[in-house]
Amino acid sequence: MTMTTKRSEELFEEAKKYIPGGVNSPVRAFKAVGTVPRFASRGRGNRLTDVDGNEYIDFVSSWGPLIFGHASPNIVNDVEKALKLGTSFGAPTENETVLARMICECVPSVETVRLVNSGTEACMTAIRLARGHTGRDKILKFDGCYHGHADSLLVAAGSGLATFSTPSSKGVPKSLAALTISSPYNDRESLREIFEREGEEIACVIVEPVAGNMGVVLPEPGFLETIRELTSKYGALFVCDEVITGFRLGIGGAQAMFGVTPDLTVLGKVIGGGLPLAAFGGKREIMEELSPLGGVYQAGTLSGNPLAVAAGISAIERLRTEKGAFGRINRVTKDWCAGLERLSKEKGLKTTVNHIGSMSTLFFAEGPVRDFASARKSDTALYAKYFRLMLERGIYLPPSQFEACFTSTGFMLLDGEELIHEVAEEVFDILKNEI
Ligand SMILES: *Cc1c(COP(=O)(O)O)cnc(C)c1O
Repeated sequence: MTMTTKRSEELFEEAKKYIPGGVNSPVRAFKAVGTVPRFASRGRGNRLTDVDGNEYIDFVSSWGPLIFGHASPNIVNDVEKALKLGTSFGAPTENETVLARMICECVPSVETVRLVNSGTEACMTAIRLARGHTGRDKILKFDGCYHGHADSLLVAAGSGLATFSTPSSKGVPKSLAALTISSPYNDRESLREIFEREGEEIACVIVEPVAGNMGVVLPEPGFLETIRELTSKYGALFVCDEVITGFRLGIGGAQAMFGVTPDLTVLGKVIGGGLPLAAFGGKREIMEELSPLGGVYQAGTLSGNPLAVAAGISAIERLRTEKGAFGRINRVTKDWCAGLERLSKEKGLKTTVNHIGSMSTLFFAEGPVRDFASARKSDTALYAKYFRLMLERGIYLPPSQFEACFTSTGFMLLDGEELIHEVAEEVFDILKNEI
C-alpha cells in the first residue's frame, strides 16, 4: 500500500509525552488493531482526512454523533452564529428551552429533560435519580451494555451464577460494584429470576434498547417488554439509554420503534450535533425530584452550553424536517450489510452481520450474536486484520470488533458506495487466504 502515516506516527509519539497513551479516550489509541491511530485534520460529509493527507470513508462518525457527517454546513452556520454572541453564560438561555421542547415533542415519554455535557454524566445522574426516587440502592444492567464510565456502571458480570458484579476497572470500590446486578442481554428468564429474588431492592434497570457497545445486538421480541413489565410490577424504574439510538433510529428513537415507554431516557451523541451535549429526561414527577425542586443533586457549569445547544437544535430541526434522511442512511447501511453477507458466503468466511437503521456490526463469528457471550466468540484477530486492510484502502471502521459502524447523510452527498463494495471484496479475498 502507498498510504503514508509518517505525520500521524510523529504526532502520536509527541502526544504520548503529554497525554496518557496519547489519547483522550482509550479506544482512539487503536490498541486492539495494532496500527497507529490516524490523527484527524478535517472532515467533510462522510470523508475524514488525516494529517498525512489520506482520505477515508468514515463509518465511525465520531462514534455516533455525526448523523449529518463532518462539518455539516447548517450546523457549522448555527454554531458560528451562537459563537459570536458568547460561549457560555452560566445563566438560562431561551434556546435551552427550545431544545428541551423539541426533545419532549419527539420523545413522548420525556415530559421534562435536563441538558448535560456527556452521556456518562447523563447515565450517572439518571441512576442517582432512580435511587433517590425509589429509595433503593441496587441497579441492574446487562452484560456488554455500556453506559459511560461512572463507578456504578463500570462493572462486569460475576462468574458462574453469581449475579453480583465485580468492578471492570481498577478504582471502582467493590462495595459499590456489588450494588450493580448484571444480567445477560436478551435473557428474559434470568431477568425474571433476579426480580423474583430481589426485585423489591432494585431501583432501576438500565438498558441499551439496541446494544451498540458489544457490537450491534438487537433486542429480541419481548425483551424490552419484559423489562417494562417487571420494573412496573416491582416499583423499579426503566431507564432507556438511547445515547446511541436516540434520534438515530428515528425521531422517537428505539422506544418509538419498539413501542416501549420507559420512565427515564438518556440521550447523547446525535442530540449534540457533534458538540458535547447529552440529556436525561422522563416523567415529570420523577424529574421534579432533581434540585432545585427536589433532593437529588445535579449541576453543571457548562450544562446547556449555547454552542452545543445551537448544534443540537440545528441537528434535530433538520432530522424533523428532512423527511428522507433516515430512509437514506438506513438504505446505505442495508446495502453495505447485504454486500458483507454476500461476500462472506462467496469467500467462505464465517461472519454474522447485525444491523438496524444506520447501525451495523460485522462479527467474525458464526452467530447468532444475541448477547455479550456470543459476541465474544468473535475472532478479534481476524477483525483486526480486516480493520487494517480496510483502513489501508481508505475505509475507516471502528478499531474494535465490539463497536458499531454508523452511516451518516454524508453518504448522500459524496458517493463512494461502489468503492466500498469493491474494497470489501478485495479485502475478503485476502482474509479468505488467511483462514
Ligand atoms: C457513548 C455512550 C455513553 C457515554 O456517553 P459519553 O458522551 O461518551 O460519556 C453512554 N451510553 C451509551 C449507550 C453510549 O453509547
